[in-house]
Amino acid sequence: MLKQLILHLKSCRGRKVRVVREHYVRERVPCFSALCQADCDNDGKVLPGDLTHYVVPDVGVVVDYLEILEFRELQGIVFTQTACQAVQHSKGRRQYNRLRNLLKDPRHDCVLFANEFQEYSYCPREKGESQEKWQTRCVYSAAVWYHNHLAGMMDIVMITEDQDAVAQFSSLSSGVYVVSVQDYLSNFWMELHAAHELYNSISQALEEKESEGTEKEYTEHLPSEILEAGIKSGRYIQGVLNVNKHRAQQEALITTQASSNKNTGTFTAALRDVLVYGGKNRNRAVHGDVVVVELLPKSEWRGKVTSLTERQGDEKTGEDEKSKPMPTGYVVGILQRNWRDYVVTFPPREATQSQSRNSQRILAIPWDPRIPKIRISTQQADALQDHRVVVRIDSWESTSLYPNGHSVRVLGRAGELETEIQTILIENFIHVPPFSEAQLKEMPVNSPEKPWKVHPSQVASRRDLRGTHLVFSIDPRGCEDVDDTLSVRTLDGGKLLELGVHIADVTHFVPEGSLTDLEARSRATTYYLADRRYDMLPAVLSADLCSLLGGVDRYAMSVLWELDAHTLEVTKVWYGRTLIRSSYQLHYELAQALLNREDTEVPELAPLSPEEKDAKLAELTQALEMLTHVARHLRAQRDRGGALELEGVEVRAQLDAEKNITALVPRQPLEVHETVAECMIYANHWVARKIQKTFPHQALLRHHPPPRQEFFSQLVDSAKARGFTINTSSNKALADSLDRAVDPEDPLVNRMLRMMATQAMSQALYFSTGAQSQEQYYHYGLALDHYTHFTSPIRRYADMIVHRLLTAAVDLDKGLSPAVALATNKELEETTQHINNKNRAAQRAQKLSIELFQCLYFKERDPQTDPSCVADAAIYAIRDNGVLVFVPQYGVKGPVYLKNRDGEVVTVGQDGRCEWKTGSVKRYSEHISTTCSSGTSTFTLFDHITVRISVQPSRCHADSLNLEIISNKPHKSAESQQPHSQGRSQLVQEVVRQAEEASQQAQERASRGPRLSKEEREFCQSKTPNLYSLLEEIRELALMDVGAAANVFNMNIYAHLNNNHCT
Ligand SMILES: [Zn+2]
Repeated sequence: MLKQLILHLKSCRGRKVRVVREHYVRERVPCFSALCQADCDNDGKVLPGDLTHYVVPDVGVVVDYLEILEFRELQGIVFTQTACQAVQHSKGRRQYNRLRNLLKDPRHDCVLFANEFQEYSYCPREKGESQEKWQTRCVYSAAVWYHNHLAGMMDIVMITEDQDAVAQFSSLSSGVYVVSVQDYLSNFWMELHAAHELYNSISQALEEKESEGTEKEYTEHLPSEILEAGIKSGRYIQGVLNVNKHRAQQEALITTQASSNKNTGTFTAALRDVLVYGGKNRNRAVHGDVVVVELLPKSEWRGKVTSLTERQGDEKTGEDEKSKPMPTGYVVGILQRNWRDYVVTFPPREATQSQSRNSQRILAIPWDPRIPKIRISTQQADALQDHRVVVRIDSWESTSLYPNGHSVRVLGRAGELETEIQTILIENFIHVPPFSEAQLKEMPVNSPEKPWKVHPSQVASRRDLRGTHLVFSIDPRGCEDVDDTLSVRTLDGGKLLELGVHIADVTHFVPEGSLTDLEARSRATTYYLADRRYDMLPAVLSADLCSLLGGVDRYAMSVLWELDAHTLEVTKVWYGRTLIRSSYQLHYELAQALLNREDTEVPELAPLSPEEKDAKLAELTQALEMLTHVARHLRAQRDRGGALELEGVEVRAQLDAEKNITALVPRQPLEVHETVAECMIYANHWVARKIQKTFPHQALLRHHPPPRQEFFSQLVDSAKARGFTINTSSNKALADSLDRAVDPEDPLVNRMLRMMATQAMSQALYFSTGAQSQEQYYHYGLALDHYTHFTSPIRRYADMIVHRLLTAAVDLDKGLSPAVALATNKELEETTQHINNKNRAAQRAQKLSIELFQCLYFKERDPQTDPSCVADAAIYAIRDNGVLVFVPQYGVKGPVYLKNRDGEVVTVGQDGRCEWKTGSVKRYSEHISTTCSSGTSTFTLFDHITVRISVQPSRCHADSLNLEIISNKPHKSAESQQPHSQGRSQLVQEVVRQAEEASQQAQERASRGPRLSKEEREFCQSKTPNLYSLLEEIRELALMDVGAAANVFNMNIYAHLNNNHCT
C-alpha cells in the first residue's frame, strides 16, 4: 500500500526542511521477539520472551537520554524507526552512529522496529498536529501494536518525558503502560543507582541549557555547506585539532589530512600544520575534533614555543624561544566532534560557582590538560569536591565561555589508588567490566562435580600426540597460564629431527561472533598494570582449559617441522589441530640446570623409582639439548639477517607460594630463555608464511617498519661522545655496532645507548596483507620477511584471528571450505587498526600506572630526610637549560634543571655538593656548563650524578616526579651493592600496602558518611599484584612510540625494562 508522507524536519543546522516521501506500508514487518506468533522474518538479534516487559522509549527519551538506554542491564528495548530518525536529524551523525552501534551490538538487548512501515502501527500526521505530538502518537501506536502482535503475552512500557502523553495514553489500553523515565527507573530499576544518578545529571543539564544567556563569547560556526565548498576551493583547511599538552591554553596545531586537499593544488598540499593560538581562535573546538580553519594574514602568523616549559605547569619562564612564524589560523567550523568520556576533578568548595535554584554550576577541570574546563550543574558540588568524576560534554554554544556537560559517575577521591587507576583506564578508553553472565554461559564447565573431558569427536578429528610426543613447557617460575609447549624428537633412524610448537587452542572454545569473542575483540589484549591485570578472556579459559598444564589432556594448535638432522633444513611443515598432554611443566632455571647436567629434582619424576627416574631424566635432558641445538641454529640464521638485540629484560620477579612478588632479581642470562623465544618466533614466522600464501589479500601479519634515520641522531652523537661509532645504515650494522659500544668501566653506557636505539625505533604493527605491498611486510627488529602473532591467543586477539586463518588454510588444503566466511581485506584492516590502537592504549596505561606507583611511593617520603629519595643518576642527553637523566634504581627517566626561573644556576662546591647561585648556562654538544661568581661547573654526557627525588603534586592532573641534582658525584649508598631492581619491587609492595590501609579507612568512613565510592572496585578483576606478568608483557609490547622519541622530556620510566625482541 502506498501512502504519502510529509515530513517537516529541522536540520541540525537549524533550517526547516520539508520532505515528501512516498511511503510503502506493509503488513509484515519483523517484530524481533521470541514470542512472535505471526512467523515474522526475525533475522538477527531477537528480544527474549522471558522478560517482565518490553520498553518502548519515546522520541524525546531517545534523543536526550540515550546514555541511560545504553546500560546493559536494561533489557527488551524496542527502538522505533520514528525515534531513530529523530536522533539522526536533531543530534547529527555522532549520536546516530552511537544508536546504530547499540542496535548492532549483541551484548545489548535491544532491537529496531520499523514502525512507520507497519501497516497497523503507522499513523499519518493529522492536520495542525505538532511534530512532537505526532511522533509521540507514532511511538504509542507502535507500543500498542507490539502488545497485540505478541497476543498480549508481554507487557509493554512506553517511557516519555512528555507529561501530557502520560496523562493522555496511560489508561488507554491495558497491557500498555506509559510512564516517565524517572518513574520507570524507580519502579523497575531501583537498584541501578548509576542510572538514577545519570538521569538526574542529564535532566539538570537540560534544564540549565534552557536558562542560558544570549551574549556571544565566540563567533558562530559556518554551516557545513559553506565549509565544504570552502575546503574544495582551497580557502579553508580541514584537519584534526591537536592541543599542546604543556601549553594547552595557547597552542594547538591543526594536522591536515592529506585526503582533504587533493583538489586544492599546491598551496595546501605543501602545508603541513596550522597553528591556532588562543581560545578565541580555537572557537570551541576540543582536542581531537575535526575542524575547518581559515588562515590569518601573514602579518599575524606566529611561531611555536620550542623550549620546554619548566615542570609541566603552564607558568611562563619569560624566556620562551619561539620558532619562526608558521601558518596561523582560526577555526571557522567543526566537521566532527570527537568528544569522549572525560575524567574531571570537582573543584574545592571556595571555588564553586553561582548558585541557581538548588543546584550549583561548577567548572570541573579535566585530568587531560588538553581538554577545557567543563561546566556542570550538580547538587553534589560540596560532597564531591576533590573527587574524580566521569563527565560528558553535551554542547558548547557560542554564548558560553565553557562547554556544558553532565556527570556520568563518581570514581572516588582524587589521589587514592583505585580512583587513579580507574582514571587511567577511562582516559585510555579501556573498558573492562567483569564478564557478563551471558558471556560466562558460553564457557565450558570445569568443576569438581562436572569435570571437563575431551570430547570423542575431537579425538577423532585431531591429530593425537599424547602417545607419540614428549611435550613439555618452559615458563617462568609460578606461571599459571601456559599458552605454549614444545616437543622435539628424532625420526627416520636419526636422519630427521621433528620440532613441535603447540599452542592453546583458544578458538575451539571461542567461536567467531560469540559474545565472548566480541568482548575479547573489543578488549583486543589483556591489560597489565603495575599491580593487577585485566584478562582478555574469562579465567576458565585463560587459567584452566586453555592453559597447557602438565599431566592433563588439552586441545592445541600445532606446528611440526621436519628438519634434516645435519643441515637443519626444513623438509616438511605440518599445521593443524592436535590433542596433547604435557609431561613436564618446567621453569627456566630447572631447564637450564638439566642442560648443565646439574643435580636437580624434577617434581614430575619424584614418585618414580631411581631406575625409571634416570631413564626419564635422560630422555628429557636429551630433548632439551636437541632443542637448544636447533634454536642456536635458528638464532644464528636470523643474526646473519641482522636481528636486533636491544635492551633485554634483565630483571625477573620471584614469586612466593601465593604468587606474590617477593623480589625482583636480575635475570641470569639463561640460554634456555632464548631457546624458547626462538622457537616461538619460528612458529610465528612459519604461520605467517602459511596464511599469507593461502590468503594473499586478507591475512593478518605484523611488521616492523625500519626507523627514520633522523631519529638516530641522538644515539649516534651520544655514542660518539664516548668514542663509539654507531652505524645505523641497516639493522645488522646497528646490531653489530651496539654490541661493540661497551664501556668496561660502566655497563650503564651500553644500556643507555640501547635505550636510545629503542626510542628511535618505530612501532611494530599488525596489518592486513591486502593493505600493504610485499616489501612492507618486513620485520626490521627480527630480520624476518614474514611475521605474525600465533603463540599467545589467551591474551592477544590478533593471535585468535591468526588461529582462525590458519584453521581455514588447513581446511582449504583438505578441500574443505571454511566454516565461517573470512573477513575481507577492508574489514581485517579495520580490525588491525583497532588492535593497534588498543595496544597503544595498553602501553600508555601501563606506563601511567607505573608512574602513578612511583609518585605514590615517593609521596609518603620526606625527600630531605629519607635516604631512599636520594639516588644515582646518569646523564643521557643535554638540553638548553639542563640535562636528561636515567635513575637505574627506580627505572626513572627525567629532566634535571641546571637553571631556574629566578636566573639561578647549579654550581658545584668543593665536595661535589651542588648549590643554586645567580649565573648563566651554556650548552655544548656533549656537555653543559654553568658559570657564576665562584667559577664554572661542567656536566658531561654519561656522567653519574646524585639526585633527590620528590613529587610535584597536582590536584587535577597526574602527579609527577621531580629530580634535583644535589651532587655531581655518583651516589654511593649503603644499599648500592644490592641489585638495582630491589627498589622497584619494594616500591610496588609498599604502595599496595598503603592503598589497602587507606581503603580500609575509607570503608570505615563510608559506613558512617554518605555513599561515595561504591564503584571503587568495579573494574578490578584480578587483585594479585602481578609484576611478573607486567615485565613479561613489556617484553612483548612493541617499541616506544615515535611521539616519545620526539619529546624526550617525557618521563619514560620503564624503557629500561623494554626488551626489544620487538616481537
Ligand atoms: Zn512477529
